[in-house]
Amino acid sequence: MRNNILAGNWKMNCDLPGTQSLIAEIQAEGIDNLDCEIMVAPSHLFLYAAFNASLNSPIEVVAQNVSQHHKGAYTGEVSIDMLQSVGIKTVIIGHSERRDIFKENDDQLRGKVSACIKEGMRVIFCCGEHLDERNSGNHFKTVTNQVEKALFQLEDKDWKQIVIAYEPVWAIGTGETASPEQAQEMHAHLRTFIENKYGGKVASNTSILYGGSVKPANAREIFAKPDVDGGLVGGASLDANSFVQIARSF
Ligand code: PGA
Repeated sequence: MRNNILAGNWKMNCDLPGTQSLIAEIQAEGIDNLDCEIMVAPSHLFLYAAFNASLNSPIEVVAQNVSQHHKGAYTGEVSIDMLQSVGIKTVIIGHSERRDIFKENDDQLRGKVSACIKEGMRVIFCCGEHLDERNSGNHFKTVTNQVEKALFQLEDKDWKQIVIAYEPVWAIGTGETASPEQAQEMHAHLRTFIENKYGGKVASNTSILYGGSVKPANAREIFAKPDVDGGLVGGASLDANSFVQIARSF
């Protein structure tokens, strides 16, 4: 069976005190009996502080990115080993901001995914189409291509470490959400795509999260869809009360 997951992607927000206080505020909302795994992704710089602040609480601290290289002359990069040495077990890979602003391509993303799986990390792999791709009817093809190129080198057993986040780029940070029906349609399409390659067990055990302007007012309706197993939340995850309200929407 697959798990419900709510992950907050803090992006390039929160300094050290802000990171520690946001974690304390989330804990103060009362998160001991949620029907989901709860994750937050602060800046690399504060992962260790966030990990320590989250000890003895259900919050898992995860990374927003990682290098596909293991060690050496890669200025500015952070390796899997480094993340693991501060307690991090999960990393977001392929966020549309990484793809669009920092030009990460499918080959690099496949390299990152493979390296993470080999080293025992869990991966939240992001995929999603731009508005022009949806308007031209190419959204299914775009998204399944992204998944195929970065994930289909994996073996069946590796999928225990994979979570997918479908994030239509036109809905990220725009206030415009995909309708629950649009989310369900893409999630079901993705699940069938995975099933065709890996079989029903892998497909039905893989959590597929929705991301793009999720907030307390729309989370319940989106999460109620049968193939939506949670959310990857940006803006609303920076407010503890909103984030925990979303976590209570399963
Ligand atoms: P948003 O961001 O919730 O602010 O739209 C989602 C994301 O980028 O993961």
